[in-house]
Amino acid sequence: MVAPDKYTAEKILWIHPWAPNLFSFKLTRHKGFRFTPGQFARLGVKKPDPDNPKNPSGEKIVWRAYSIVSASYDEHLEFYSIVVPGGEFTSELARLKAGDTVYVEKTNYGFLTTDRFEQGKDLWMLATGTGLAPFVSILWDMKTWDDYENLIVVHSVRYPNEFAYADTIAGFRSHEHFGAQGHKLHYVQTVTRAKAPGALDKRIPALIESGDLEARIGLKFDHDRSRIMICGNPEMVDDTRKLLQAKGFVTSRRGQPGHLAVENYW
Ligand SMILES: Cc1cc2nc3c(=O)[nH]c(=O)nc-3n(C[C@H](O)[C@H](O)[C@H](O)COP(=O)(O)OP(=O)(O)OC[C@H]3O[C@@H](n4cnc5c(N)ncnc54)[C@H](O)[C@@H]3O)c2cc1C
Repeated sequence: MVAPDKYTAEKILWIHPWAPNLFSFKLTRHKGFRFTPGQFARLGVKKPDPDNPKNPSGEKIVWRAYSIVSASYDEHLEFYSIVVPGGEFTSELARLKAGDTVYVEKTNYGFLTTDRFEQGKDLWMLATGTGLAPFVSILWDMKTWDDYENLIVVHSVRYPNEFAYADTIAGFRSHEHFGAQGHKLHYVQTVTRAKAPGALDKRIPALIESGDLEARIGLKFDHDRSRIMICGNPEMVDDTRKLLQAKGFVTSRRGQPGHLAVENYW
C-alpha cells in the first residue's frame, strides 16, 4: 500500500488509441513532479475491493510502473500502454475516460537514462512494443541530439499496426527545434509476425546476430562509440544483452559507467 501523502491524484486529459490493445494517454502533471528522460512513474488506478475484511473501504489502488513518453519540460505527463487481457491494472485503465483520475506517485524512478554512460558517439535505443516509450522522451531532450552523432531507434512489434509514435519519431527530422540535427536520426522498424513495406522482419537479437541491423543503418556496434539502451519484453532484453556482452559490451552500474542500460517491463 502506498501512503496517501506519497502520491497525487491527476486527471486524464487525452486518450489516443493506436490499435485495439494499445493506447496513449496524457495526465495533468503535479508541479512538483520531476523526472529525467528515460525514467518511469508509478501510476495507480482505483478498483473495487469487495469482500476484503482487511479493507472495509471496498476499494483499493492498484499500482504499476509506466515509462514516461513526454519531454521532461512538458506541462503534462504522457504514457503509452498495452492492454493485457484480464490484467489487473490495464483492464481498469482501459475503461477510463478523459476527466477520470489516475494516481501518480510523487517519486520518479529508473536508470534507463543517458547519464548512465560516459560520452559515446552513437546512442542505440532498442525497443519492443511499449518499450519504445522512454526513448521518445529521450528524443524530446535537446541534450541527446547535442551529445551524440547518431541516434538509432529500433522498434520491434508483432504486427504493423503496432508502430505507435512512428510519425512523431520520423517528424523529429523536420521539427523546428530538432530538424537541424535531423540527419542524426536512424529509425528502423521490424515486424516479427507479418511483413511491412520498409520494415525488417526479425527479432532484434536475430538482426544483431546476422549483422542485418548494422548493415541497414550503416553503423557498427563499437566499444568506443556505441551506448546501447534496451527496453521492453524481458526475453528480447536478455537475449540482446547476452549477445552484446559476448561482444565485450558491459552493463552500466551505479558509479561504473558501461555501454549498456536495460529495462525489463515484466
Ligand atoms: C520499469 C517499468 C516500466 C514500464 N513501463 C510500461 C509502459 O510504459 N507501458 C506499458 O504498457 N507497460 C509498462 N510496464 C508494464 C506495466 O507496469 C504493467 O505490467 C502493464 O501495464 C500490465 O499491467 P496489468 O496489471 O494489466 O498486467 P500484469 O499483471 O502487470 O502483467 C501481466 C502480463 O502481461 C504481460 N505484459 C505486461 N506489461 C506488458 C507490456 N507493456 N507489453 C506487453 N506485455 C505486457 C506480461 O506477460 C505480464 O506477465 C512497465 C513495467 C516496468 C517494470
